[in-house]
Amino acid sequence: MKLATRMSRLGTETAFEVLMKARALEAQGREIIHLEIGEPDFDTPANIVEAGVKALREGQTHYTPSAGIPQLREAIAEEIATTRGIEVHPDQVVVTPGGKPIMFFTILALCEQGDEVIYPNPGFPIYGSMINFVGATPVPVPLLMEKDFCFDIEEFKSLVSPKTKMIILNSPHNPTGGVLTKEDLQAIAEAAIENDAVVLSDEIYSRMVYEGEFASITRFPGLEERTIILDGFSKTYAMTGWRMGYGVMPHWLAAQVTNLMVNSNSCTAAFSQWAAVEALKGPQDESRKMVEAFHQRRDVIVDGLNQIHGFRCLRPKGAFYVFPNVEGTGRSSQEMEDFLLNEAGVATLSGTSFGEYGEGFLRFSYANSVENIQKALGRIGEAVTKP
Ligand code: PLP
Repeated sequence: MKLATRMSRLGTETAFEVLMKARALEAQGREIIHLEIGEPDFDTPANIVEAGVKALREGQTHYTPSAGIPQLREAIAEEIATTRGIEVHPDQVVVTPGGKPIMFFTILALCEQGDEVIYPNPGFPIYGSMINFVGATPVPVPLLMEKDFCFDIEEFKSLVSPKTKMIILNSPHNPTGGVLTKEDLQAIAEAAIENDAVVLSDEIYSRMVYEGEFASITRFPGLEERTIILDGFSKTYAMTGWRMGYGVMPHWLAAQVTNLMVNSNSCTAAFSQWAAVEALKGPQDESRKMVEAFHQRRDVIVDGLNQIHGFRCLRPKGAFYVFPNVEGTGRSSQEMEDFLLNEAGVATLSGTSFGEYGEGFLRFSYANSVENIQKALGRIGEAVTKP
């Protein structure tokens, strides 16, 4: 049987492949420290779990409206209105199984052959995968360590043109932890308006900012009507397995994305939606505590990595990743990923998993205990200096 040609254009996320390699080593009795996968190591807060269980017990085990239950769409509209300082109607909210489908659906709904899509590189691999899949042209903006992994605005301006259909932003950023400044956002907003481009603003790490305040591009005049905010519950409330995310977008687009939900998932799991209502409306202390823990771990990992021969690491302002330069070790990113997994028992991701501009870098997720991070640092230091 022959696959449809479009399948050859679909990329993947190698984090899951490294996880499998690490699990195979564990099956042989090796002890691996997991710093590869981007998920909080905390349990979902108890009040949220209870709300999910209660919903199941009360019979919330059926289909829901495809865009989500009204109670959740209202809670999300309120949350986005308060945190982004904009007016949002519940009709603009589409609830999806995780934030990822919002990339899939909006790129599918808006972009096609002849359209250019600007996206960060290194960046979340699904952006490039989806742009290629729908036959649009990927236009990467290189993120450089010397520029704090922010957009080089002059370079960005040279790439944007009337052919640009969409600009993808991700701040705080995976894999670098970089946060776009207000000046960057303003320049990007102006370019989007000038070239009539849509912005897909992936704000999944919006609560995880350690210095300064989170800013969304929607705060700039004229951007609300051309921006899709992608956010969700996986990171903020340690709910990766519940599959709960959403997009907030103009009405006309929300109707089309809802139709893509009708054609694919029908709806997001009912009990997960009720748990999400509790996540937004209930106490926020557990979520805040997680952010404080990430902040502390960030400092431990950055200080530790900078003491290892051949590593240079910035102190990122957000998310839970660090992206050190490892060129000084004399190994390529992929070699270093394999070396650390096999020799030090530490699972990390090669920077090239996030695009060609990730060469020379490794991504560490510090969603792990301080104790494990310290142990990993010790093992890496030893492995790197071994003759
Ligand atoms: N966006 C970014 C930048 C991510 O790193 C992730 C997950 O790793 C997602 C979106 C999607 O997360 P989920 O589908 O679990 O909500």
